[in-house]
Amino acid sequence: LSLVVQKYGGSSVKDVERIKAVAQRVAQRQDAGNRMVVVVSAMGDTTDELIELARQVAPQPQAREMDLLLSTGELISSALVTMALHELGRKAVALSGPQAGIMTDATFSKAKISAIDPGRLERELDDGKIVIVAGFQGLTDDQDVATLGRGGSDTTAVALAARMRADACEILTDVDGVYTADPRVVPQARKLATISFEEMLEMAQWGSKVMHPRAVELGQIYDMPITVRSSYNDREGTIIGMESRNKVTGIAHDSNVAKITVVGVPDRPGIAHRLFAPLADAAINVDTIVQNVSHQGKTDISFTINATDLASTRERVEAVARELDAETVIANPGMAKVSIVGTGIQNHPGYAARMFGAMSEAGVNIDMISTSEIRITVLIDHDRVAEAVRVLHRTFELDKA
Ligand code: ADP
Ligand code: ASP
Ligand code: MG
Repeated sequence: LSLVVQKYGGSSVKDVERIKAVAQRVAQRQDAGNRMVVVVSAMGDTTDELIELARQVAPQPQAREMDLLLSTGELISSALVTMALHELGRKAVALSGPQAGIMTDATFSKAKISAIDPGRLERELDDGKIVIVAGFQGLTDDQDVATLGRGGSDTTAVALAARMRADACEILTDVDGVYTADPRVVPQARKLATISFEEMLEMAQWGSKVMHPRAVELGQIYDMPITVRSSYNDREGTIIGMESRNKVTGIAHDSNVAKITVVGVPDRPGIAHRLFAPLADAAINVDTIVQNVSHQGKTDISFTINATDLASTRERVEAVARELDAETVIANPGMAKVSIVGTGIQNHPGYAARMFGAMSEAGVNIDMISTSEIRITVLIDHDRVAEAVRVLHRTFELDKA
């Protein structure tokens, strides 16, 4: 028998009807001769609603309780999908992340899976059961529940598939696969038949929320190809983990970006470390960093973060800025990042020029630029992001096969 690990996202289990439909799909897959492990996300917008609920009770809730709260969304789905399978006459069992043997580090809200003990899962499968695992969560060494970051159920699925050496790992969602750009922003976007791990990782890290970045990373490390497909139809999806021959594969965007500028920092060794070490300690992810040319021994340092981290970043940066005698700290929450991603970029210097040319023609101001071997990213005004994505999609002819 083959082992299939599937993951159903929030929109795929958003109501009773969808939960029953998921149970049907899983049962059919079992009938085709597979052992099934199914990871589920919280129903619809449950996670957002829980965050809002917490905020109403306490503006800055403590991380441990926040994670405990958020983990309940996935518990609800796992119990309900399992009940629906029971109604279909199937043997099935719901497990929380901890019950499924998933261990994590103690970085609440952004925990990483540290180990998986598949003993319980294997016993249940051997007993002929379908196992429904609550995604997005695990247990720390101190026996606390920790969550894996927004979108983290993808990572639960890929980690389980890798650990159990599954024959297939499938991410079922509300789109037919990975597209050349977010189909909600670019109606002409095309579904990709395949994409490499490297390209998908860049797309995910730079804002394509169809996959959680850590899930792609695990797929790559453990050589576990991932299929992304719709939970609403039987169309072929996208296989992540194939060689790529695309010049530009896709456009990623992230509209939830804040920029911080520390103005008038003394330009001497150790300053950058003083500034960024506290952010690293708080697990705040800093991406693009620009340090300006210094004038009279002083310089400006700008960097971008996820807008969700703005309050905690500001607090830490302002504390260091005072110690360093910096002039001031400016925060701009209304930024966005747009990236072109593709393996061809590393050998074609012309792509950067084409990208900047397209932005210029559209009258979109570029605030910062950052690159990797297979990616070029520009930081722009939040209000121009949809337009920028569409312009780049056209410029690089991604609507054409
Ligand atoms: P789920 O709840 O199933 O995890 P998500 O909302 O996390 O689903 O991810 C699916 C969404 O990702 C799509 O609805 C789409 O709007 C968005 N998305 C962004 N970029 C892409 C892309 N390149 N290809 C496909 N979907 C994308
Ligand atoms: N429910 C979590 C979220 O909304 C995890 C997930 O859906 O993957 O981010
Ligand atoms: Mg998701």
